[in-house]
Amino acid sequence: MRVLPILDLKRSCGALKGEILEAVSRVLESQSFILGQEVHAFEERVESYLEGAAAVGCASGTDALILALMALGVGPGDEVVTTPYSFFATVSCIVRLGATPVFADIDPKTYNIDLKDAAARFGSKTRALLPVHLFGQMTPLEEIVGLCREKGVSVVEDAAQAFGSWRRDGERIVRAGGMGTLGCYSFFPTKNLGACGDAGMVVTKDARLAERLKKLRVHGAGTTYLHEEVGLNSRLDAIQAAILNVKFRWLERWNEERRVLADRYRMFFGSKGLGEFVTLPEELEGNFHIYHQYAVRVARRDALATWLEERGLSTRVYYPLPLHLQKCFAFLGYGEGDFPESERLARESLALPMFVGLLPEEQERLVDAIAEFYR
Ligand SMILES: *Cc1c(COP(=O)(O)O)cnc(C)c1O
Repeated sequence: MRVLPILDLKRSCGALKGEILEAVSRVLESQSFILGQEVHAFEERVESYLEGAAAVGCASGTDALILALMALGVGPGDEVVTTPYSFFATVSCIVRLGATPVFADIDPKTYNIDLKDAAARFGSKTRALLPVHLFGQMTPLEEIVGLCREKGVSVVEDAAQAFGSWRRDGERIVRAGGMGTLGCYSFFPTKNLGACGDAGMVVTKDARLAERLKKLRVHGAGTTYLHEEVGLNSRLDAIQAAILNVKFRWLERWNEERRVLADRYRMFFGSKGLGEFVTLPEELEGNFHIYHQYAVRVARRDALATWLEERGLSTRVYYPLPLHLQKCFAFLGYGEGDFPESERLARESLALPMFVGLLPEEQERLVDAIAEFYR
């Protein structure tokens, strides 16, 4: 049986192997393993990409979120408004710092936080809004940044799935991570810009916050062995930075290809008349969605996924249980029915293979099999 994997990095990165090994070897030769030239070069690349933001590399996307909230001084007694429909780290970082996550439901079209619902949950303890650009599509934050400013609420973007995604705001182009007070990226290997291990980054246009982030990632030390506050040990590894420097040059081409693949799914599904069973992802007006995931909504999701798996066609469920229903967050007091759109998406969402190098015949085979299931 031919197997269609959910992700095959060799198809995009196989050709870069020589260059990647050379970059790694350069780090070994330099003996500069912590911060240093490669990390600096990668930070500079991202800084020029984001036009004026400071970039601070760290150990993972999860740490990026923790560092961002720490830089804002978020802690016990503070509330952070966020989405229950995301990867675990979006919310664990808030809880880890002793602050309280306050959930708002999602917009069923984009799967991102519903900004009206979010605004309705702002209160006197709200310190930050933490929206996620889920699956590579930006949340239209221009609708809420004014209110946030007025209320003294900082915006921390979880852009872990959206590096290179952008949105048109009037005459401006705004990039994911560059719209809020702080933006957080992950370079986990499966992300659209992935390292060969864990890696992450925080970006901000606020120079004071950038300075604080640079201290926080080295144990809160201003000068070596002189600690001004209690930080983390969370640096972007030099070997990972060297690899990211190689891969970064492909980012735009790879993101363009993801959009071509998304169009092709649309075309294949379009001819099948499956509207009753399958709902395709929608791109919000003005958005350059990079389809980090191509997640469709389907009827009888689990039966379909099993049926496809038996035919060598891999799919994944992101995410089967919304965060407000996770056991470890039970103490927050939320229950079933509190966020109906998130709960419905958790029952219906199915991510199809979406990676650079995915072939048209593979996409067609998958769509044919889905059509056959519903027949
Ligand atoms: C991957 C991811 C993270 C965490 O990134 P790591 O690098 O794995 O720690 C956070 N938020 C979202 C939405 C993610 O997809």
